[in-house]
Amino acid sequence: MSEERVGFFTDTSVCIGCKACEVACKEWNAIPEDGLSLTGMSYDNTQALGASTWRHVAFIEQPTPEGRTQLPLAEGDSGADSGMRWLMSSDVCKHCTHAACLDVCPTGSLFRTEFGTVVVQEDICNGCGYCVPACPYGVIEQRPADGRAFKCTMCYDRLGVGQEPACAKACPTESIQFGPLDELRERAALRVDQLHETGVTEAHLYGDDPEDGVGGDGAFFLLLDKPEVYGLPPDPVVTTRDLPTMWKHAGAAALSLLGGVALSFALAGKGRR
Ligand code: SF4
Ligand code: SF4
Ligand code: SF4
Repeated sequence: MSEERVGFFTDTSVCIGCKACEVACKEWNAIPEDGLSLTGMSYDNTQALGASTWRHVAFIEQPTPEGRTQLPLAEGDSGADSGMRWLMSSDVCKHCTHAACLDVCPTGSLFRTEFGTVVVQEDICNGCGYCVPACPYGVIEQRPADGRAFKCTMCYDRLGVGQEPACAKACPTESIQFGPLDELRERAALRVDQLHETGVTEAHLYGDDPEDGVGGDGAFFLLLDKPEVYGLPPDPVVTTRDLPTMWKHAGAAALSLLGGVALSFALAGKGRR
């Protein structure tokens, strides 16, 4: 990695669900339309991340936790409680430290960039689909009628010319913050402290820990409820974690098989003498 590792800190406590991030991503990356079907449960009309949805804004309507003011906490906001609240969160590829999608790609279409991000190159992808089940977050997907896999590139072309990603640029509330990952982690920890001081004790970070099952995410989040409420796995693990041990066992088994064959030939030869 020749450049400082960069990433996203998505602070869902200030997301207003405007979907500017989704639109900016579509426009900049010329991503085709993806059906626009409402779930019937909320204002969510993209439903999930996929080959043609690289940012997905989740809308979760739920009763306000008891004794808690509503978010966003704007200046002058009385915090009047209507009994319901919206949780909104703009999801994206996590650009994992240990990315299983990279491990399994046989063509080198998926690669780690000089910025520490994970990019898939559409002109090299052969459509094998190995990366799809390898991703512990269900992010990458093959585009129907095309077969190749697509996902967020963290706007690799923009980073190359010193521009921030289109979604971060378009976000009006700075819910999506882009920058050096270490700085973002410090900023996020301060934001959690600030929210705890104002009584939002459920605020916590997701994907920021370098010791977690994927070595920490390049795109991490401040959440106001459990990860599964937002459709995120509570304890993601890199799916290729056990591969080295499996290869070691397979190698040992192959060696003992070869040893057994050699021994039987040796014994057979001795018997003929
Ligand atoms: S979230 Fe999935 S697609 Fe994105 S880098 Fe991690 S493993 Fe790859
Ligand atoms: S970084 Fe670029 S490609 Fe990724 S979600 Fe944002 S706009 Fe889309
Ligand atoms: S642009 Fe920002 S505020 Fe609007 S939906 Fe996306 S993350 Fe939320």
